[in-house]
Amino acid sequence: MKILGIETSCDETAVAIVENGRTVLVNNIISQIELHKEFGGVKPSVAKLAHEEVIDSLIEKTLADVNLSFDQIDAIAVTLGPGLVMSLLVGFKKAKELVKEYNKKLIGVNHLFGHICSNYLESDLEPPFICLLASGGHTQIINVETYIKYEVLGSTLDDACGEAFDKIGRLLGLPYPGGPNLEKLALDGNPKAFVLPEGKVSKYSFSFSGLKTAVLRLVEKLPENFNKADLAASFQENVTNTLTKKIISAANDYHSKKIIIAGGVSANKTLRKKLLEQSPVPVYMPGLKYCTDNGAMIASAGYFLKDLNQDIEMLDVFAKDPSSIKLKISSRL
Ligand code: AMP
Ligand code: MG
Repeated sequence: MKILGIETSCDETAVAIVENGRTVLVNNIISQIELHKEFGGVKPSVAKLAHEEVIDSLIEKTLADVNLSFDQIDAIAVTLGPGLVMSLLVGFKKAKELVKEYNKKLIGVNHLFGHICSNYLESDLEPPFICLLASGGHTQIINVETYIKYEVLGSTLDDACGEAFDKIGRLLGLPYPGGPNLEKLALDGNPKAFVLPEGKVSKYSFSFSGLKTAVLRLVEKLPENFNKADLAASFQENVTNTLTKKIISAANDYHSKKIIIAGGVSANKTLRKKLLEQSPVPVYMPGLKYCTDNGAMIASAGYFLKDLNQDIEMLDVFAKDPSSIKLKISSRL
């Protein structure tokens, strides 16, 4: 079964075709990073226009890349949320247009569920497992029992993990997005140079705002020519220690036989290394290109959701009143 996945929840226009939830036939992404750099973060109105500008040609190119036509596509999966409403609507409206024109099944996908499914791409991974989802908007520990049954054990109480990377990146004068740039800078730094505090929250919850404030206060006290690489490395050390400790502890508590990671921060090599070194059970990680937002994970998610009876009426409401549907969709995960 071939599913075309469309993802426009934030600053990437992404379209992919995936066969049977695992085999990626094509995965195209147009990143808007350059457009948002001057704002130091994603500007929703700019994101919407940029998605609109490229979505038609990207879908056309994606089919052409693998010599397929819509006749050979079985269903269209699209991200419904959470994300920037203006951006989500671009993908959703396009998907609706296409299912009408070509008489296909429309499958709505929760973006976070999509991130979990990025681990099924080019892999034979099967649930159950414990998942650490760390992205620009979310940080969660999820107990995944079956392909479609899961329970969120804990979330961040304030900033998301990727958001913390982005904010500290900005503080260090790095371009947006902070995460990958901070990781690069940290390569030249000493992770033990600065001792930073860890958020004191319950077992499966996260808090990064105290850490952010501590870094801010530290920078105010340091001389102007302080070693930025040392601070980047120390910050990364602190965050990856917390993530590693919490996901391993959840896996132990739930007698989980596998740990998986997902979301943009799962591309972080220090995190990947620590997990591989410290986890008592096998660790699965998405390929680097499937960590940040992409269409393949949405197409994969569509495959696992295809037999659920989705409320298309509800999807219709989305176009008229995005805020109401956003709540419903978010509550699914
Ligand atoms: P997503 O929201 O899943 O698209 O992921 C984007 C977020 O992941 C942003 O906050 C990035 O700064 C962060 N991110 C991406 N790559 C890395 C990395 N190598 N290390 C840490 N954070 C990263
Ligand atoms: Mg994401």
